[in-house]
Amino acid sequence: MQDCLFCKIVKREIPADIVYEDDQVLAFNDINPQAPTHILIIPKQHIATLNDIEEHDQALVGKLPRVAARLAEEHGFAEAGYRVVMNCNDQGGQTVYHIHMHLMGGRRFTWPAG
Ligand code: IMP
Repeated sequence: MQDCLFCKIVKREIPADIVYEDDQVLAFNDINPQAPTHILIIPKQHIATLNDIEEHDQALVGKLPRVAARLAEEHGFAEAGYRVVMNCNDQGGQTVYHIHMHLMGGRRFTWPAG
C-alpha cells in the first residue's frame, strides 16, 4: 500500500529501529514506548485490520505471537511475563492501519486495559 506508514518501514522508505526480520515478518521499536520494551511486530504483507485477515493469511499471522515470544525471551522477560495487544479499528484504539502486534515488557501490566 503506497500510503501505509508500516509498508514504508518495510520498504526502508522511512527509518525504524528494527529488532527482528525474516522473509515475512518485521519487528521494530515503537516510536512512543508504553513500557521499557515496546516492539511492534508486523507482517510485511499489507493487511489493514484484524477484520481483513483472510483464511490464507492464517499461517502468516500466526507467526506474530511466535516472534513476540522469541523477542520476549531475548529481552529476558519471557518468564516474568509480558503483554501483547492488537488494536482493531477506531474504538479499539488502532491508529496505524497495517496490522501489528504490540509486545510490551519490563513492567507489570494491569487489567482491564484502558
Ligand atoms: P495502534 O494505535 O495500535 O495502531 O498502534 C500504532 C503504534 O505505532 C503506536 O504505538 C505508535 O506509537 C506507533 N508508531 C507510529 N509511527 C511509528 C513509527 O514511525 N515508528 C515506530 N512506531 C510508530
